[in-house]
Parts: sequence; structure tokens; C-alpha cells
Amino acid sequence: MPAHDTSLIDLGKRYWLPVYKPRELVLDHGKGARVWDTLGRDYVDFGAGIAVNALGHQDPDLLDALTRQAHKLWHASNVFYTEPPLRLAEELVAASGFAERVFLCNSGAEANEAAIKLVRKWAASKGRVPEQRTIVTFRGSFHGRTLATVTATAQPKYQEGYEPLPGGFRYLDFNDVEALEAAFAEGGIAAVMVEPVQGEGGVLPAAPGFLRRVRELCDTYDALLVLDEIQCGMGRTGTLFAHTQDDLVPDIVTLAKALGCGFPIGAMLAGPKVAQVMQYGAHGTTFGGNPMAAAVARVALAKLASPAVLMNVRRQAEDLRAGLSRIDHSRQLFAEVRGRGLMIGAVLADAWKGRAGEILDHAATHGLLLLQAGPDVLRFVPPLTITGEELADGLDRLRDALADFVGT
Ligand SMILES: *Cc1c(COP(=O)(O)O)cnc(C)c1O
Repeated sequence: MPAHDTSLIDLGKRYWLPVYKPRELVLDHGKGARVWDTLGRDYVDFGAGIAVNALGHQDPDLLDALTRQAHKLWHASNVFYTEPPLRLAEELVAASGFAERVFLCNSGAEANEAAIKLVRKWAASKGRVPEQRTIVTFRGSFHGRTLATVTATAQPKYQEGYEPLPGGFRYLDFNDVEALEAAFAEGGIAAVMVEPVQGEGGVLPAAPGFLRRVRELCDTYDALLVLDEIQCGMGRTGTLFAHTQDDLVPDIVTLAKALGCGFPIGAMLAGPKVAQVMQYGAHGTTFGGNPMAAAVARVALAKLASPAVLMNVRRQAEDLRAGLSRIDHSRQLFAEVRGRGLMIGAVLADAWKGRAGEILDHAATHGLLLLQAGPDVLRFVPPLTITGEELADGLDRLRDALADFVGT
């Protein structure tokens, strides 16, 4: 059997804008937490796209929702009402426990872009001049690739060459309470935008109590708390929303990734302080609230909020952590295993720093789809419905891949 489906891969190398470097395999179909490539080889899926396919592949209820809607109406725009986005908005508000209104869009970046615009509009409505509309974000964060969201993303590697960047953002160290207190004391801050668990930045959870302190400071200085739950939300950490574990009420929450379980959709949830700030004409999108996306997301939301799925997250997270420490016991590859629920990062020990990408190559060769979060962290974000059998198989494959890697 050939090692690669080169005729297809060559098309990507020839015709795609070369902004990606995919592993050299072409995925064809999936079922549960397994995927097959065009050459018939199977893989255990520890990445779920990028924390997207939270119900695995070919979930029968998602398939049913999508095909039913596909036979009714594909698109209507926001010039007319359709049922799925109306129902979805009601269900998101009810599930959130804090939001009053919802803006539907197509991606995470768009959800955060809407949140940034809403913060600015809110500050403007309070008579604050542009210099008083600063949004604080944290180093290591990731908020998207549009010009505004990449500016919110406090990592130079995503910003280089795209200057001039929009103004009005300020970066602080993640989990640094004193720096945040000092920044607030200087004035001009309209909002803090933060991931409860940093994803792309290395699977790094907010320190215990940090987000509550952010909330207090936002209240003291009349600023908004925006939580980017695009990666850590929708059940990923063991509760539908990550922030319920931090025991606080946000003003704005953004969702995307697992919201459509693979069908593109994003959402911005707005609490009472901001729900009425953007009025007719203030924002919009052609595709946002697309009936097929919304029909799928309604089913995804119901299933991901169910006790069965959330229990499975906790159970498999324990087994995954136990498996990782068993594997590590013999090899001493990891400096630390961290994260929450089924959002786990294995930080490479000093001797192996910078080599996560190589490990991913070995994993693929051994039939395991794995992600990194930067050059030093292996990221485990499998489907939330992964079975014990699939998880054990994936861990076996990881063990073999790491043995290979260490042997090279
Ligand atoms: C992926 C991600 C985004 C961007 O979402 P896109 O759909 O790629 O635009 C924003 N924030 C976080 C935390 C993410 O993980």
C-alpha cells in the first residue's frame, strides 16, 4: 500500500494558499471517535477536528436534523424569519442562565468580532471617548484571525506583518491579578476578554479564583467581562459552559467550534447590560443563523448538555489522564499534564521541547489523530462521546508512537 494519497495531496500543495501544513493523509469518513483515510487506514480521533466534532462522526441525531432541514430550506437570510435559529436562540438563552439575547454567526472569529463591537458600542453609549474603550486580553490567548480578533490575540506570531493593527487593546499576563488591578487603576478599560481555559496558547486553565477576581474588578470599574468559550465551552470541560465551574456571571460569552459539532456556526450571547445596546442596523451577517446550521446546533446543544455526555466527559477524562501518566511513567516525556475535562494538555519536558509536531507525525503513522497547542504541548480534545474502548485503543497507539519518537 502506498504511504500517501499523493495525487490528492498534490492538489493542496499546488492550489491552496499555503497557510496550512496538514499531515500527509487524506481523511475520507468517520464513525464515532474513528476516522478512515482514502487508503482505508483507520485512526482514533483525539482531536475532533480542532475540538469541534464533540459528538464524534456520523452522530445519527445530527445527521437526521441536517438532512431533514436540507430537504426543507437551505437559506433565507436575516431579512426573513426561519424556525431553527429562532428556537436555537431561545434554547441558548435558557441553557446559559445569564444571557438575554443571541447573535448567530458562522465562526469563532465572527462571534468574537461581534463581542468586540458590542463592547465598543456599549462604552460609546455610556459617553466614553474612544481612549476609554480599551479591551484587555491576556498573553497566550487566541481569539481569531480577523484583524480585530487577531489584535485581541496577544501572541506576536499571529500578528506579524499585519500592522497597522486596530487600536484599543492592551495585553497583560494571564493569571496576573496585580497587573490587572494596576491596569484598571490607570483607567480607560471597557472590558476584559478571556478564555476560561486558554486553548491554542497551550491548554492552560485560569488559576483558581482568577476569573472571579476579574469579575470583581470589572464590577468595581464598570467594565464588561467577555468569556471566549469557543474552545472550552459546549461541555468540553465537563459542564455545558466552562465558567459555571468558576462560579461567576459573565456579560458576554462567545461560542463556535463544538456548537455545530462540525457544521459551521458561531454565537455571541449577551447578558442584561448589553442585550439592547446594538439596535437595528448596528451589525449583521448574510449566513449567520443559517437554518441548516441552526437545526444541527439545536440537537448538538441538547445532547452536549445532557447528563450522559457530561458524565462521559468526566469519566473518560480520568481514564485519559491515568493513561497519560502510565505512558509517561516509563518515558518521562511530560513536565506536566493540565487542563479541564476532555481538554487536556501534556507539556513536553525540557529535553523534548519544541518537538510536538514530530510526535504528531509519529501518532498519525500509528493511526492516531492528535493535535498540538504550540510547539511544546500535546493537546487532547477527543469527541466528548468517546467510548472507553476507543480511548484505550488511542492510548495504545500513542504509547507506540511515543516509543518510536523516543527511539529516533
Ligand atoms: C478557534 C478559536 C477561535 C477562532 O474560531 P474560528 O472559528 O477559527 O474563527 C477563537 N477563540 C478560541 C478560544 C478558539 O479556540
